[in-house]
Amino acid sequence: MNYCPLCRTELVIKEVKDSEVQGCPKCGFTNWDNPTPVATGLLLRGGKIVIVRSRTRGNQWGLPSGFVERDERAEDALVREVKEETNLESSVLSALGTYAIDNGRKKILLIAYEAIAQDGRLAPSSEISEIDEVPPDAALKLLKGMEERRILETWLKGRLKST
Ligand SMILES: [Zn+2]
Repeated sequence: MNYCPLCRTELVIKEVKDSEVQGCPKCGFTNWDNPTPVATGLLLRGGKIVIVRSRTRGNQWGLPSGFVERDERAEDALVREVKEETNLESSVLSALGTYAIDNGRKKILLIAYEAIAQDGRLAPSSEISEIDEVPPDAALKLLKGMEERRILETWLKGRLKST
């Protein structure tokens, strides 16, 4: 952002609570550059984890996920994205934490859940190039994103504690 969206004045760098943000010297607008929320899920199906390769996410193996839409709860966003990407109906079981990602272009707040898929035929959307269901240890090797592996590790630790 170069210009103030409110008054079109050129933005300057200002310091707020030890961090540098863009601000407008004329009207006081601050560009907080807040992260965009993305819901993601460890989708369980018969002891396996459903993983997808999305063309919009570098075609690497990852967990089903998507941007939270306006007026939407993160849990509902996940159920909607799972249906879109895999054709499966699902229910959210528990929260697995939040993770901050900065991929250089965009700041993302990943909101992770454990979810269970109902029976149904796996059918990828056009955005998904490949879909698979694998045991947790295989998923740990296949998942490309560091945060997605951490989500899986968090889930595995929780499962060990409860048995
Ligand atoms: Zn301004």
